[in-house]
Amino acid sequence: MAGSKYAYVKNFEIPDPLLPNTYMVLRVDGHGFHRFSESHSFTKPNDQRALELMDAAALAVMQEYRDIVLAFGESDEYSFLFRRSTQLYNRRQSKILSTLVSYFTSCYVMNWSKYFPSTPLEYPPSFDGRIVLYPTEKEVRDYFSWRQADTHINNLYNTLFWALVQQGEMTPADAHATLKGTVSGQKHEMLHSRFGINYNTLSARFRKGSVITRKTVINFIVWIDGLETPESVPSDEPDGLKRKTKPKVTLEISHVDIIGDEFWNKNSDIL
Ligand code: ATP
Ligand code: ATP
Ligand code: MG
Ligand code: MG
Ligand code: MG
Ligand code: MG
Repeated sequence: MAGSKYAYVKNFEIPDPLLPNTYMVLRVDGHGFHRFSESHSFTKPNDQRALELMDAAALAVMQEYRDIVLAFGESDEYSFLFRRSTQLYNRRQSKILSTLVSYFTSCYVMNWSKYFPSTPLEYPPSFDGRIVLYPTEKEVRDYFSWRQADTHINNLYNTLFWALVQQGEMTPADAHATLKGTVSGQKHEMLHSRFGINYNTLSARFRKGSVITRKTVINFIVWIDGLETPESVPSDEPDGLKRKTKPKVTLEISHVDIIGDEFWNKNSDIL
């Protein structure tokens, strides 16, 4: 199509390709969720419904974008790892980032009433997003270790902070002051001696965050018209259609350690 005399302005758009053959991590994070969680009466320190809603949005993103091989979520954030060779949108950074952040946000809003049936949305939530490229497996593993270590540090702090406020009837300022300078062991000890809480028995979702992987579970029969039936279903071939079996990939969510080697040995196809 011939352009108008105005079309030259298109040349001001700068291409923004992401370096080829590098690991791409995209992280979304709720914008101003300190306020959002208060306006929508999230349970402190961990609102289970809010975490499940984040998981639902992340699962939807992974259904839609098949090149995502791993996701990790905690609090108001989710990180997505793409397979190194992905050619999604020709690796255009702003196209990938804007589309995925927008899709995540839409899924969050669409699923809101399922997880918060009696809490109307007071205002539209938004998420920020960034893409970081990592050259080797080491940085990718360290990235995910960093996020999961963060989950632990924050959860230990927040669990004790809210115990001091809710059960200990301290003001938030006094609770922060009490916690200032304490090391991990002291926090465990205070939780146990003052509130009878054994940190290690708290929900794994709160302590470890959410990990989403792809799992090949079952061979499915794919009729050539695209309809899928589980292999176990007796298969009278519909007239004129050919059958072929195909591995069915599903998404699996867990709350496991991803810092040690065990997870990565078990999921050696991720990197
Ligand atoms: P920014 O826009 O810079 O990200 P923010 O207010 O979202 O600011 P974060 O550092 O992202 O700050 O922290 C998110 C905050 O949202 C947490 O500190 C916590 O108060 C709240 N929050 C998020 N998820 C939950 C949850 N499941 N349960 C309780 N509170 C939550
Ligand atoms: P991309 O993801 O690359 O943007 P696209 O399919 O969105 O692909 P665009 O060039 O953005 O392509 O064009 C948007 C298309 O959406 C239009 O070509 C038109 O078919 C359709 N569309 C958008 N708004 C309207 C509207 N108000 N009425 C009818 N059709 C519309
Ligand atoms: Mg932030
Ligand atoms: Mg945030
Ligand atoms: Mg955050
Ligand atoms: Mg368009």
